[in-house]
Amino acid sequence: MLHKLTAHELHEKLISKETSAVELCKDVFERIKAVESKVKAYISLTEEKALFTANKVDEKVKSSENLSPLAGIPTAIKDNMCTKGVKTTCASKILKNFVPVYSSTAVEKLFNENIVMTGKTNMDEFAMGSSTENSSFWPTSNPWDLRTVPGGSSGGSAAAVAADEAIFALGSDTGGSIRQPASLCGVVGMKPTYGLVSRYGLVAFASSLDQIGPITKDVTDCALVLNAICGKDPMDSTSLNTKTLDYTEALVNDVKGLKVGVPKEFMGEGIDLKVKKMVEDALMLFEKMGAIVEETSLSHVDYALSAYYLIAPAEASSNLARFDGVRYGYRTRQKVEDMIEMYSKTRAEGFGSEVKRRIMLGAYALSAGYYEAYYGQAQKVRTLIIEDFNKAFEKYDVLVSPTSPTVAFKIGEKVEDPLKMYMSDVCTIPANLAGIPAISIPCGLTDGLPVGLQIMGKALDEITILRAAYAFEQEFWFKEKPALFGR
Ligand code: GLN
Repeated sequence: MLHKLTAHELHEKLISKETSAVELCKDVFERIKAVESKVKAYISLTEEKALFTANKVDEKVKSSENLSPLAGIPTAIKDNMCTKGVKTTCASKILKNFVPVYSSTAVEKLFNENIVMTGKTNMDEFAMGSSTENSSFWPTSNPWDLRTVPGGSSGGSAAAVAADEAIFALGSDTGGSIRQPASLCGVVGMKPTYGLVSRYGLVAFASSLDQIGPITKDVTDCALVLNAICGKDPMDSTSLNTKTLDYTEALVNDVKGLKVGVPKEFMGEGIDLKVKKMVEDALMLFEKMGAIVEETSLSHVDYALSAYYLIAPAEASSNLARFDGVRYGYRTRQKVEDMIEMYSKTRAEGFGSEVKRRIMLGAYALSAGYYEAYYGQAQKVRTLIIEDFNKAFEKYDVLVSPTSPTVAFKIGEKVEDPLKMYMSDVCTIPANLAGIPAISIPCGLTDGLPVGLQIMGKALDEITILRAAYAFEQEFWFKEKPALFGR
């Protein structure tokens, strides 16, 4: 039953020699074998490598070396982060057999802490989606009800953690892809401030929005993982040179006097009434704990979704130009007359329909004559949203909202209607546009499915959102575990 525990609980057991890293690793792989055929969270498993690392951790314990808090902890990595010698597919046919020759910085940093990688998790192709149904391999199921989606695009990572197939995972978040699946799967997910975690080795979707972050079972683990992955990286010029903080210092149960703003735009139309009710209950709990809760407004946030669906596809159309069948990845086997035909056949066969839709949207928004009207306009909206947040944070320490407008929806329910699917991220996208940190924590179940509470903070103020999240978690410890069957 070791797989049920958190990283910090397991660390205690490892250093007290109550268990060993090998025992833990074997326990988690047994769990994977028992439930993976139902959940399908992983694209690939790396059991042999995992056992090898676990052995090394045990040797360190034996020789009384200092163990990092994450040493020996079974960890799942979203399949858009490069892992040296291990296939990295982005859940796309075009990268189906791509084996990177280096690891992304965030993953490398975890390896330096001696984590035990269990495997690479399923996702929407190139992280485009909100349900993991855009994976070109298979959809992942939500462990709470196998007929529903785990959210996306980091659905494999969130489902793996929720089903105890990993103790924690890394995800990436461009418009909500860590927080929304965390919300739908009843786990903790954080998108750090843009630039706090290096994007080097993360396959780029929309470079001005992408950010890597932790998906964990509780807030303490979230702080521990953030400690391990953050920091300036010479390989990513957008990574920030900030003071090194110890995020576990945020783990104090005290929100007295904390000023909580509730933007009314996040509580209105489109938000499921049951979800809204759970968020209101959570806000009442914050008040009871001594926080000051007030309604506020972010007046331009209603335009966030529209701006995002110009900016993100624009950047994607440029980033995905590199997949041309020449340097790496899939190449068409059809007979072709020239290079152009080879490019277009490769891309037509290699990319799925959502990816193609984004590339076309983006190329259109960036084309001469339309650039100012679409892309330029969206950038201006982005600035207005940033200003709205700046103003709100003059008055409030954190802003709170639902993470997702609904609980997990049925597999297949929204695949035919991209606009409906895009709505899944109305509450999460604004934080990406503004570059600010945000966390999703479970705040209860409705009809047996988890609801997530989003806490947003000022740029580089992860400490305050972690403090609020931790205090909430102490009052409202989410004990339930998913049933792992369709109801
Ligand atoms: N669902 C959003 C999209 O499809 C966000 C994805 C993400 O954060 N990677 O673009």
